[in-house]
Amino acid sequence: MSNAEIGLIGLGTMGAALALNIADNGFGIAVWNRTTEKTTAFVDDAGPLANKITPTQTLKELVAAIKIPRAIILMVPAGQAVDDQIAALRPLLDDDDMIIDAGNANFHDTNRRAQEASDLPFLGIGVSGGEEGARFGPSIMGGGSQAYWDRVAHILTAISAKHEGAPCATWMGEEGAGHFVKAVHNGIEYADMQMIAEVYGVMRDGLGLDSAAIGDTFAKWDTGPLRSYLVEISGKVATTVDPKTGKPMLDVIVDAAGQKGTGRWTAIEAQHLAAPIPAIEAAVVARNLSSQRDARAAGEDLFGAAPRHMAHDVMPLETLEEALIAGKIIAYAQGFDMIEKASDEFGWALPLPAIAEVWRQGCIIRSDMLDDMATALRENPERNLMMAPRFADTLKKTHGALRQVVAQGALHGIAMPALSSGLAYFDAMRTARGTANMIQGQRDFFGAHGFERIDGGTGQHGPWGD
Ligand code: NAP
Repeated sequence: MSNAEIGLIGLGTMGAALALNIADNGFGIAVWNRTTEKTTAFVDDAGPLANKITPTQTLKELVAAIKIPRAIILMVPAGQAVDDQIAALRPLLDDDDMIIDAGNANFHDTNRRAQEASDLPFLGIGVSGGEEGARFGPSIMGGGSQAYWDRVAHILTAISAKHEGAPCATWMGEEGAGHFVKAVHNGIEYADMQMIAEVYGVMRDGLGLDSAAIGDTFAKWDTGPLRSYLVEISGKVATTVDPKTGKPMLDVIVDAAGQKGTGRWTAIEAQHLAAPIPAIEAAVVARNLSSQRDARAAGEDLFGAAPRHMAHDVMPLETLEEALIAGKIIAYAQGFDMIEKASDEFGWALPLPAIAEVWRQGCIIRSDMLDDMATALRENPERNLMMAPRFADTLKKTHGALRQVVAQGALHGIAMPALSSGLAYFDAMRTARGTANMIQGQRDFFGAHGFERIDGGTGQHGPWGD
């Protein structure tokens, strides 16, 4: 019986939600999970959607249940599990059958798998939006041959989030392009979350606001230029009360952030590409630093807690809001710049405006601002996003607030790694004559590396003497 339009392996959080989404959109789907009881429970809980779902107990049964040419989605942990599943599936498949890795693969692995598959259909797609997104409409970033993408695009666009009717599912480019774009999405997500956490720190430690007031502030910001999923949920997190203690949830959560590695991959890849993304890197570093709780407590004992408390008139909430607007633009500009560099390096022709468009709905960084970013990237394809007129105008109005927040943070001992490195990036990017002439002088002094003179001539050396 080969009736299902598509197959799926891995009924964990994301796989189960994605399978229900596919069924909900009218496509028959065959599913298989390593632990069979999970497959049974999944179909039992699927309600009326169960008649679109074919549960299978072996990979052979799964393959037999799917229409030819087959397409099978893998939703298992990145790494060895993906290679193992591909190895187990391939002998059961025909030459035209396609494997789609929809997990958070490292794009280098996706490049390798696409090359190993040679002319066997293989796609690597980035799926963002968490469980809720996977169930009701994720943002989907496709990578692999466009012909393979076209074979399943009708299913992937149908299940994706929609922005004013436009599907948030796009083919990004060959091989690992989709997983690369997803990794940068996650890097930007790290920076966005970290900057929100930093302004939360100013409100809590600098201004002494309670969680309810902080939540109300985020809720208010969510009606203005910062309107976004992350600001919205930050407000909800801040106002939620712990049923066990009656305290705000934020007060009972340990201040050590987890991570699964995609932010780190982005930071490492940025170094390989020589792409400057300091706000994103600072956000990854901040997560690493957050986990050093004992060392931080020892530091507070040794050096004393910073004064932190600041007068309300040095830090109006409007200034904080503007600083977050500026920081966000700067972080996104870095992410898009990295995508552009990778596009050149890997010969991908990544569609920057279309990337901003697929991020407008469904994914974790969805926001109103991304709509403007898509327009700006379309209107000014050659420019750093910060310098596209509509964002340059906003930055001209808001970078003073960012400076004020970072300066007050420094004076009061409130760490702001992402906002302060964002400000440094902004200042560096508006300094026509920087200070690397000193670096070049030093390099030539100790290593005879040579430099370029401003009045002409490369490979020059200084008369340094001894
Ligand atoms: P999960 O809830 O832990 O589920 C993992 C699934 O993979 C389970 O069905 C598990 O089967 C199966 N699995 C684990 N190891 C396996 C192996 N060696 N061979 C075969 N199957 C194996 O994970 P998840 O959150 O759904 O994540 C799945 C993928 O989506 C990951 O790549 C993740 O990075 C990515 N992703 C997750 C999110 C998110 O918000 N969670 C968002 C975007 C992307 P058993 O039931 O037998 O254990």
